[in-house]
Amino acid sequence: MRHNLTVLGATGTIGVNTLDVVSRHPDKFRVIALTGQNQIDKLAQQCRQFHPRYAVVLDDDKAGALRALLAGGETEVLAGLEALEFVSALPEVDSVMAAIVGAAGLRPALAAARAGKRVLLANKETLVMAGRFFMEAVKEHGATLLPIDSEHNAVFQSMPAGYDGNPSTHGVRRILLTASGGPFRTRELATLKDITPEEAVAHPNWVMGRKISVDSATMMNKGLEVIEARWLFNARPDQIEVVIHPQSIIHSMVEYLDGSVLAQLSNPDMRTPIAHSLAYPERVEAGVNWLDLARIGTLTFENPDLRRFPCLGLAYQALAAGGAAPAILNAANEEVVAAFLDRRIPYLSIAATLDGVLQRLSGQPADSLDDLMAADGLARVAARELIAGADVCRA
Ligand code: NAD
Ligand code: MG
Repeated sequence: MRHNLTVLGATGTIGVNTLDVVSRHPDKFRVIALTGQNQIDKLAQQCRQFHPRYAVVLDDDKAGALRALLAGGETEVLAGLEALEFVSALPEVDSVMAAIVGAAGLRPALAAARAGKRVLLANKETLVMAGRFFMEAVKEHGATLLPIDSEHNAVFQSMPAGYDGNPSTHGVRRILLTASGGPFRTRELATLKDITPEEAVAHPNWVMGRKISVDSATMMNKGLEVIEARWLFNARPDQIEVVIHPQSIIHSMVEYLDGSVLAQLSNPDMRTPIAHSLAYPERVEAGVNWLDLARIGTLTFENPDLRRFPCLGLAYQALAAGGAAPAILNAANEEVVAAFLDRRIPYLSIAATLDGVLQRLSGQPADSLDDLMAADGLARVAARELIAGADVCRA
């Protein structure tokens, strides 16, 4: 029987890679719904290729444009956040690929979890913002959570079968998250102030969306991934370590009490973790190049330097503070990254602004999802104020 899929964020990097894997296995997977925000032509083309029952965009104007492009076809076009939740919870859907970027991905991913779906989670921001509530929803509604983020997928593959969310009962000592170190790993510290958006989005190993590319350059991405790992594997912060591995061949590791370290290796191609989760527990061909270790030759490792990557330190700080701090960090980060990409703030203001927002908003309540959404809103306001101040200072 074919596996029915909703792909949230189908027009993005993860969405496109997902559809690439799906297209290789028409006998195994069927697309029920695709969603996108702005790239209507691309979404229309995907609908013509995969014939989903639904296509969802955010606003009515875009829905009108998409309907016109798909006139006479079998795809029904819907609009709005509720429609994203609707296609995440459809009875005929087995798996939901949650690949919207940013906090906007939380509600549809949560809808999928509450409907007991198999959730293929790329949107790490969901766990950073609301890890406790999301994991509770997964448990309560019998959903299955499979990590798409390459590091977490590697950890998942390196964990013992039947891992029940308790490191100590499985003899797990540490989770070692690898990081490439991004484009600025060896750049002169004195020149970090001159970094441009073009330089920041040019990742040496991975092709990704713009926001996550900037996060990789600052290593905020790894910081968000530490928080993601905390919730996915129920590990304490001191059980999660980051090691820089510039070749991006080992995607992460699990260390056991007896000293064994298990790792997952592959070429840096997101189709591997995507195919792993789509087919789990089976294995399917993903279209990736086979790993040629002799050609790669050398795998190297180093510790991250927090002076170079202060965002990583801020993420550990937010995790230790707990409560709403990770949601605040995440929301403020979205604002500062957008401001940096628009050239409204220089590179070094990214970490400085985040630090300012975290200090300003300590002790916000985090007893409910509404509290976290409120903290997200406050963080965005605070970040925008600090960003505006930075503009005034430069003028
Ligand atoms: P992207 O920017 O390429 O794509 C984002 C997708 O989300 C697009 O389809 C876009 O239309 C949609 N979208 C954006 N804002 C939206 C909104 N407000 N409402 C509804 N839809 C919206 O991003 P990406 O690189 O594919 O990343 C997607 C997610 O996967 C992110 O959370 C990222 O952290 C995570 N991730 C990506 C990679 C990667 O290699 N690209 C690796 C690991 C994890
Ligand atoms: Mg990752």
